[in-house]
Amino acid sequence: MTIAEVASENDDQSSKKPKVVVIGAGTCGLRAAEVLIQAGCEVKVLEARDRVGGRIATTSKLGLPLDLGANWIHGNVGNPIIEIAEKAGSSYSIDELDDTVVFTPDGSLLPKRLGDEVVTKMWDYFDEGITYSAQNMTTIQPNISFMEYYKERVQAEGWDEKRSAYQIQVADLLGSIVATEIKKQDFRNLHMEEPIPGENLFLSSTYGPVMDLMAKTVLKNECLELNTPVEQVETLQTADGPVHSIYTKDGEVHTANAVLCAIPLGSLKQDRIKFDPPIPEKIRQSIKHLGYGSLEKTYITFPKAFWMDGPSYFIFLADSTVSERKTMAAISLAHIAPPYNQPTLLFYTHGETSKQITDILQMSTPEEARTKILTFFHPYISKLPNYSVENPDCTPLDYTSTNWLNDEYAGNGSYTNFPVGLVDGIEDVKTIEAGVPEQRLWFCGEHTAPLLGLASVSGAYWAGEIAAKRCLEAFGMAGGEEVVPA
Ligand SMILES: Cc1cc2nc3c(=O)[nH]c(=O)nc-3n(C[C@H](O)[C@H](O)[C@H](O)COP(=O)(O)OP(=O)(O)OC[C@H]3O[C@@H](n4cnc5c(N)ncnc54)[C@H](O)[C@@H]3O)c2cc1C
Repeated sequence: MTIAEVASENDDQSSKKPKVVVIGAGTCGLRAAEVLIQAGCEVKVLEARDRVGGRIATTSKLGLPLDLGANWIHGNVGNPIIEIAEKAGSSYSIDELDDTVVFTPDGSLLPKRLGDEVVTKMWDYFDEGITYSAQNMTTIQPNISFMEYYKERVQAEGWDEKRSAYQIQVADLLGSIVATEIKKQDFRNLHMEEPIPGENLFLSSTYGPVMDLMAKTVLKNECLELNTPVEQVETLQTADGPVHSIYTKDGEVHTANAVLCAIPLGSLKQDRIKFDPPIPEKIRQSIKHLGYGSLEKTYITFPKAFWMDGPSYFIFLADSTVSERKTMAAISLAHIAPPYNQPTLLFYTHGETSKQITDILQMSTPEEARTKILTFFHPYISKLPNYSVENPDCTPLDYTSTNWLNDEYAGNGSYTNFPVGLVDGIEDVKTIEAGVPEQRLWFCGEHTAPLLGLASVSGAYWAGEIAAKRCLEAFGMAGGEEVVPA
């Protein structure tokens, strides 16, 4: 279709509903589309994959469904995902997964009280660091990592060398929150990690049914095209306003009066979609400033949960000065309430360790990968209560491991983070979120969420609402419920 034909098609449509193309059917794109449909727009959602959900995905490879991406609802106070999860009849685990033990680098168990103290202190430093960075953002020196602040806090406690070492070793675990080693997390911008208030709920019934509900309006309106990667967006200014031509990989051209681009930050960083005219320099710079982290999940299942009479959360401290291995944690899915309990362990890895795991997946045959991954996790499994080489229940039956780092439609990573050297992350988020209104082009996703929701499903949901509202305002249309977060 030529540009003149596009413009003339737009003329034919000018008396009709505004046409909006949403690129990406993850949480953000689906919520944006829902708000636009409800307000009376003609919406088309173009999704590269053969499924909706993006970084929410489930697998039944090991039996019961398991989440490959998001699994937690972070904060249950004022969180819109709670209402959807309730409607979906979801089950949560909260306290079941809290019973923790800590293994020292030599494999012995820390006394329970000391282990709990080490873990509680780690969370205290994180929470206090968030508050401190929010209150002192303008005076904190640039280029200071959260690890530096953390170590200062440990030093100030005046503990002996061993106690201090435990406290420093456990800090690795926070990397699975910020999706990188905490020595790479900017301290000045740590407050951008502030979560929604309330409890963290583990969705034992998975995000699957929640995603089904989130996709309902779009599916009902039959406006979703799967297997449709977008490659280019061309914008032409006409007397009636901007007209977009959206080019897909298979050669189709869609036209629209507005575009909401809900692809991951990692994909924007890699210019996976070409924009003509190019994205304004200010937005490009902000896309560059923000970080995009890595978090991967490995589930290992056994004939029986041989560790069952012990706790549900295992922390394995590592002394990274003598070994490449990082501190690791495993969550027991045997401890969650029936019918979702299963003899399976969940390991999270981030940063360099997640690269190690995904390199194995990428470069090996399935059989080699299985051997290498199970060998990698064996040192942790062999420390669990009741482990014995002779007991067949202690031999893994199967595993599944995520590979977001090699997933181009996930932007080759997991979610947004705030690397050392970032000057003003809030300003960068706002710049991206403001989009290019004169072109009726907006960018949205977990990376444009309100502060409390950044990098989360809830944030992606809010970001979709906000982008849709901006779009409706540009058309002078009412609609879009009030977005409430602080
Ligand atoms: C391992 C892991 C664990 C996580 N755990 C949690 C958690 O417990 N709780 C939580 O709240 N958050 C968690 N997150 C983060 C959460 O999953 C994301 O913040 C959220 O799902 C992002 O939603 P989104 O709509 O912004 O992006 P996405 O879900 O990534 O959606 C973007 C969509 O765009 C599509 N797309 C990409 N390129 C193109 C293209 N060129 N053309 C068309 N379509 C395209 C993608 O296929 C995708 O469907 C986790 C993420 C990971 C990876």
